[in-house]
Amino acid sequence: MRFSKYFIPTQKENSSDAKIKSHILMIKSGMIKQEASGIYSWLPVGFRILQKIIKVIEKFHELAGVNQILMPTIQSAEIWKKSNRYDTYGKEMLRITDRHKKELLYGPTNEEMITLIAKSFIKSYKNLPRYFYHIQSKFRDEIRPRFGVMRAREFLMKDAYSFDLNKKKGEETYLMFFKLYLKIFRELGIKVIPVRAPAGEIGGNLSHEFHMIVESGESEIYIDESLESMDFNNYSIDDVMSINSYTDEFYNENKITMSLKKLKSIELGHIFLFGDKYSKSFDFFIDGEKEKFLPFMGSYGIGVSRIPAAIIEGSDKKDGVTWPVNVSPFRAIILNLDKKNDLVEEFCNCMYSSFIEDGIDIFYDDRDERPGIKFSDADLLGVPFVIIIGKNYIKKKSVTIINKYSNEEIEISENDAINKIKKLIKLDD
Ligand code: ATP
Ligand code: MG
Repeated sequence: MRFSKYFIPTQKENSSDAKIKSHILMIKSGMIKQEASGIYSWLPVGFRILQKIIKVIEKFHELAGVNQILMPTIQSAEIWKKSNRYDTYGKEMLRITDRHKKELLYGPTNEEMITLIAKSFIKSYKNLPRYFYHIQSKFRDEIRPRFGVMRAREFLMKDAYSFDLNKKKGEETYLMFFKLYLKIFRELGIKVIPVRAPAGEIGGNLSHEFHMIVESGESEIYIDESLESMDFNNYSIDDVMSINSYTDEFYNENKITMSLKKLKSIELGHIFLFGDKYSKSFDFFIDGEKEKFLPFMGSYGIGVSRIPAAIIEGSDKKDGVTWPVNVSPFRAIILNLDKKNDLVEEFCNCMYSSFIEDGIDIFYDDRDERPGIKFSDADLLGVPFVIIIGKNYIKKKSVTIINKYSNEEIEISENDAINKIKKLIKLDD
């Protein structure tokens, strides 16, 4: 993509209601635009980042055999009455009446709907296990929407649902999602800690949240410090159940006596094994080998649109961010620092085309702007590799590349530049 064609409505003034770094930066760098309280449009850079996150989530769900579907945002109130959640969900639920006076709602989550989808088609134990997910907007009429997309009213969530034969199989699935989440967050370049969460009213249920530790976070967790360096990939379900780190709700409800560290955090994911709660509500019986049974269910959420904000909050770059490679809107940016020089222009174009041919997601600042503006826009964009073609190219036919993670600068001669840079920026894959 060429900068001259790309729409990045950067803002000079800080919006008055933006209080935290991520909200300020996302407005300032033209990633999002507020439409109403807690409701945002995603502009090209922001949407590109969201799509990168979605790509990673899709890749890992596909590998794990989770079926991607798309359920609607609008649901009928009837199915929520059936599960007894229509009244208990409270004011967070946006209720709608259509022209025929039929009660509808904007879905805050999809357990009811997915249970009915499964009930329509899954008739035999031979069809289990089955896993589904979708990435869809949710609406929760939060009492205090704030911090931009961090606590929004309309937001994008990945929610997956599992149907298993019995509790034991359900626990295996839960463990699979637990590990899947760790892989996804690692690929996104985010360090998360799994913490035990309250599992609701039914005994034997299991729930964990995945938190990113950061001072500006709205959540509080109690963690066993040894957990931070743990490799969870070898964990069994029993190990997972005995993790000694907790959400504040769990900690307070269960009067935990261990000495733990209390930290501020952002909740990015939540997995939940709840058994036959919904299969029972909807009389979803399946033919077993001998008798009919209620499938054992779980649900698994990731706060997709909260992730970009969380990454910015977690970045140690003052007032900014350098995006992790798999999240960055572009892998690298080429800065043409002398638009008037034909040789510079020609080399930039040649490098840009060669990157595009190789399928590298490259951004080219081809604008007729001062170098200062180009540097500061590249910085605002947070792209990890900045390729500079200007004075040194004219004087000694060399190109400079800055690695924004380490701030290391490398000068490469024109002949090797394209190949070397390709290798350099791919190394972090
Ligand atoms: P929170 O405790 O932050 O209100 P929650 O427990 O209500 O979240 P879940 O129902 O577990 O949220 O939803 C799954 C994920 O969706 C959460 O882990 C979080 O990352 C994200 N999420 C929830 N509410 C919001 C919101 N208002 N804005 C943006 N993301 C949200
Ligand atoms: Mg939660």
